[in-house]
Amino acid sequence: MEDRQVLKVGDRVEQMCVTCKEERGHIVASVSKSGKVTRVSCPICHSRVPYKGGATRTPSTKIGTPYDRARTYRRGQTMMHPNFGEGEVTAVIETGKIDVLFADRMRRLIHAGA
Ligand SMILES: [Zn+2]
Repeated sequence: MEDRQVLKVGDRVEQMCVTCKEERGHIVASVSKSGKVTRVSCPICHSRVPYKGGATRTPSTKIGTPYDRARTYRRGQTMMHPNFGEGEVTAVIETGKIDVLFADRMRRLIHAGA
């Protein structure tokens, strides 16, 4: 079975964001001809940084906790939505609302709030 990860622009990779000082899923911003990710951008602070991955890091397995509107989400948390797939909370808008970045676009979801 071929398990080599082929990434393309718009995919997500885990990387430490130097601005946020947190490890999070970054969006692949550019890929070299040989298929290596060269630059990624942080969905929170929007900084574009060189991809330092290199290490054989498997896509985060911590992602996949099913979305549950009864939960309280915090910025940076990840979820697996039944319709939209994997997402990461990029902002808590107001009590009961969160912005979640999914593979295709940002969506506003509800949650329990604080
Ligand atoms: Zn950041």
